[in-house]
Parts: sequence; C-alpha cells; structure tokens
Amino acid sequence: MNLVNFKTLPLALSVITAVASSQASAGVEAAKAPVAVHKVDLQQVRNATVKITYGDTTFLIDPMLAKKGTYPGFENTYRSNLRNPLVDLTEPPAKIISGVDAVIVTHTHLDHWDDAAQKALPKDIPLFTQHEDDAKLIRSQGFKNVRVLTDEAEFGGVKLTKAGGQHGTDEMYAAPPLAKLLGEAMGVVFQAPGYKTLYLAGDTIWRKEVDQTIEKYGPEIIVLNAGKAKVNGFEGAIIMGEEDVLRASKAATNAKIVAVHMDAVNHMSLTREELRTYVHGHGIESRVDIPEDGASLEF
Ligand SMILES: [Zn+2]
Repeated sequence: MNLVNFKTLPLALSVITAVASSQASAGVEAAKAPVAVHKVDLQQVRNATVKITYGDTTFLIDPMLAKKGTYPGFENTYRSNLRNPLVDLTEPPAKIISGVDAVIVTHTHLDHWDDAAQKALPKDIPLFTQHEDDAKLIRSQGFKNVRVLTDEAEFGGVKLTKAGGQHGTDEMYAAPPLAKLLGEAMGVVFQAPGYKTLYLAGDTIWRKEVDQTIEKYGPEIIVLNAGKAKVNGFEGAIIMGEEDVLRASKAATNAKIVAVHMDAVNHMSLTREELRTYVHGHGIESRVDIPEDGASLEF
C-alpha cells in the first residue's frame, strides 16, 4: 500500500494546473508585446567605453583606460593639439574591469582599444572582434581567447549579432589614405529572452545599415557614438552627431537613445552640453539619455 502517492497526487495535480494557467496568461501577455521582465544595466565609463549587463553577464565595450593626457591628439583631426584622453576615468581600471565576463572591441582605433586596456585586462578574457585582422592584432598583444563576431554568437545567455556601418562619409572613403586610416568598425545587437534588445551602433555615420538594423531588431535601447568627430579637410563627421540622435528617436519610436563618445578625445566637435541643448530644443529629452562618465542607467 503506497500512501505517499495518494497523499501527494492532489498536490501534484494542483501544481500542474497552476503552471498551465500561468503559462496561458504569459502567452496572452507575450502576444500583446514582448515583456522585458529583467533589467539591462548600462554604465558609461568614458568615451565609447561602456559596460552592458544582461543578468549575470557583463560586457565591456571598447575599453580605453589610459590616464588623462597619455597620448598625443589624433593627427590631422579637429583640435589635434589636445592630448587624449581629455579627462580621467572616474574609477581605477581594476574597478572597471572587475566583474567583466567578455570584452567587445568594435574596432582597434586607440580610443576604443588602448595600451592601458591591454595592460589591465586578463589575457584569457573572452574577447570579440569584428574581423580576422583585428583578432590577429589582439592575439599578437597576448590575448588568448579572441573570437571574431562574423554574424551571430551566443555568450552567457546573450545573443550577439554584428551590425554594419561606415566610419565616415563616402567622400572620405574615396581618399585612399584616409579610407585606410578609418578602416572598418562594427555595431552589435544584444538580445536575451526577458530583456530589452540593445543596439550599439559603434563608430558609424547614419547609413542604410543603421535603418536596416533598427527595422530588423526593433531595439528598445540604442547606444549612439554621438560626439561628431571631425577630420581636417572634409565636410561631415566620422561618427554620429546631434541630428542622428534626433533621427534615431524618430526611426525607433519606442527606443531610448543613449548618447556616448563625447567630451573625452580631441576630435569630437559636439559636447554633451550642446547635445543637451539640442535635445531640449527638439522636445525629445524624455527619449534621450546623455550619461556622464561613471553614471549607470537601467532599462
Ligand atoms: Zn571612436
């Protein structure tokens, strides 16, 4: 005689019923809109360096960790007499890299991947690059776990998808020495079940690839490098500026725009202060975050 089974059977049935009904109501919710039940954290470190956290997984993007004034200004760019970075970090590099599970280097320009970052990071940290050339360079710097984000990858429960762009105007890319200098850069889309989708556009101007990424993934958070960096002798900028922030707010009406990559390297022609004024002037202040260095945002 097995009394235990008789006793637990009604309980087991009620558990099954409860699970089934909660799944049914979750299904109705999901049909209305994808529900982001968990929070995405974003910390603006400095420049284009940000930390993005999905659950237990933290990505460090484009680490530039040198002290203020370590490097000369970028030659043949706006205000090249100034030394980079223009400002200090708000925390020591050791604090910034603590808890980081993987690094994403969108491209290897000094303001996205510098000597100080190479020195501070553990050589076995998982690191994603845009192509084999950057991977080769970073491996030559001693890193042992370097991957190429060719299309999609999964890391710590987060799906990463490479996004395209162009680090300057067509006119700039028609000038071979400058085209070589600007090179390629990538953006990344972050997705995880129960979390908002984040699109980090990287060092790009507004291009059809940006529209396509917004259309395809419907990001609810869009991180734009918005400092409007300029090179001498050319119209236009090599990354986004205030008009692109406005454009993003119109292209993705449900998204929060996070503007970074300002006030930290010499060739930026748009300050946070100027962007704030512009954003207020266009009445989109509720749509745009312009975090100070060290500040954290939750979505
Ligand atoms: Zn940059």
